[in-house]
Amino acid sequence: MGTPETTLPSDFIRDIIDEHNRTGRFNRRVATRFPPEPNGYLHIGHAKSVCLNFGIAAQYGGTCNLRMDDTDPAGETMEYVESIIRDVRWLGFDWEDRLFFASDYYEQLYQYAEQLIQMGKAYVCSLSAEEIRKYRGTLTDPGKESPYRNRSVEENLDLFRRMRAGEFEEGAHVLRAKIDMASPNIVMRDPVIFRIKREPHYRTGNRWVIYPMYDFAHCLSDSIERITHSICTLEFENNRPLYDWFLDELGVKDHPQQIEFARLNLSYTVLSKRRLIELVQRRTVFGWDDPRMPTVAGLRRRGYTPEAIRDFCARIGVAKNDSIVDVALLENCLREDLNARAPRVMAVLRPLRVVIDNYPEGQMEEFDAPYHPQNAALGSRRVPFSRVLYIEEEDFMENPPKKFYRLAPGKEVRLRYGYYLKGIKAVKDPQTGKVAEIHCTYDPQTRSGFAPDGRKVDATLHWVSADHSLPAEVRLYDRLFKAPNPMEAGDDFLKHLNPNSLEVLKNCRVEPSLANATPGSRYQFERTGYFCADPVDSAPGSLVFNRTATLRDSWAKVVEKGKGK
Ligand code: ATP
Ligand code: MG
Repeated sequence: MGTPETTLPSDFIRDIIDEHNRTGRFNRRVATRFPPEPNGYLHIGHAKSVCLNFGIAAQYGGTCNLRMDDTDPAGETMEYVESIIRDVRWLGFDWEDRLFFASDYYEQLYQYAEQLIQMGKAYVCSLSAEEIRKYRGTLTDPGKESPYRNRSVEENLDLFRRMRAGEFEEGAHVLRAKIDMASPNIVMRDPVIFRIKREPHYRTGNRWVIYPMYDFAHCLSDSIERITHSICTLEFENNRPLYDWFLDELGVKDHPQQIEFARLNLSYTVLSKRRLIELVQRRTVFGWDDPRMPTVAGLRRRGYTPEAIRDFCARIGVAKNDSIVDVALLENCLREDLNARAPRVMAVLRPLRVVIDNYPEGQMEEFDAPYHPQNAALGSRRVPFSRVLYIEEEDFMENPPKKFYRLAPGKEVRLRYGYYLKGIKAVKDPQTGKVAEIHCTYDPQTRSGFAPDGRKVDATLHWVSADHSLPAEVRLYDRLFKAPNPMEAGDDFLKHLNPNSLEVLKNCRVEPSLANATPGSRYQFERTGYFCADPVDSAPGSLVFNRTATLRDSWAKVVEKGKGK
């Protein structure tokens, strides 16, 4: 199962930290942070970053802060903050009393900006956004200096203070760092530090009408929190010189080291908050926690365990180049975890009524059935058996082809935990012509599951007793996208939606031991897959189960195939 907890992970980030510890940089202190912007729910990609940042802190006896990177009023809400807190905690991590908000640093960030102005390192620019873009140049052409670049310190300070005071409209002015319009790195061509935004912020309300840009806020937030290793995704590699520039200019000693790693991409999956928001807003899914969503909330509702997600993150490791991870690996981590600990129970998803003609009417007996074939500690339950049962529709064929090993007229199978059962005849619905019920006989000599005369059967079927079983709704989920890389389609990604990602079965029957299934509890339904009682919609008396995973292990197949080569 996965990486044993005793082997410490090792990767290029940990190598860097080891080197810092060897040379005494940061005095061997390790302080990381996970800095989500509360403008959406966390997804499995964020989970990778959570595991990395908290995992490194734990491994080096350091700390990891949870910081809401909330410097843009657009789209940030308290609901998202709460969801992030819930999800990181559920993943199994603890930030103790170190929950921080970048919005708590606004005043400090503003003061830092004034300091840069005083130093002649920042200026108020009155070009329009469009003009700023044009002046920036391209990868091959240097940029052009803004005509406002040489305003005096006094004029800049005055304008900046009036920006803060709300004297100007959005877009009238911005504050820019004065670096180098000819820099080969476009990020360094006088980047914007503060802009006017007349939008209320979910925490600071209308107190501020200017907001700091990410590049400015992030390095300084790290510095305020005395972060040592600021781990982020590769797209920020070009921003690292700017990260360092702000901190160096402002005289921050021993400032944090930014380290970039490759973000997680998953096949058949969309991992971008913007796209996920679109799915929620268009009602393509029922919400952020729809079990088909790659969000932590969706995976949780689907029945994923935090252990499986952590195992997945450990197995994929961290690298310096982008790649797409096979979603089958994630599913396999889940199967391995559930296989080890999910109780086995019987549930019939598409019931077919079976009458055992030679079993006495009104009689009932119970089989003692262990919950797990290997783990006796899970105990056992009693499974009632009687004259009328349900089996899966697909386990019976009236006129089977040669290779059909299950029940048919004249064919014998074993019932899980019980007797041999022999098919006699099918009774059809006169209207539809469909098989409505089948008649069988059982062999009373086979209660042990074996025949005294040694005769064998080809199949063992799961079943429930008609009178003793309980009704349940079962929701079968499949991948939300049918293309291996739906992101390739850009804005058209919706065209790759799998129209059959959800099938709802309303007439399922489950064994009576599930009467009080706790919402969120997970099971293996024998022969059909792993399921969990829906944390929201399931209750005793109206059971609803989500299919967490099928039993089929497509990852094992991939590995097998690879071996053959
Ligand atoms: P998205 O691209 O999905 O909108 P984001 O980067 O805008 O995500 P943030 O809230 O800024 O979302 O992310 C918080 C942290 O999670 C950042 O440090 C970011 O680098 C990391 N992160 C985001 N997506 C991934 C991913 N797919 N794989 C690994 N880390 C990620
Ligand atoms: Mg971001």
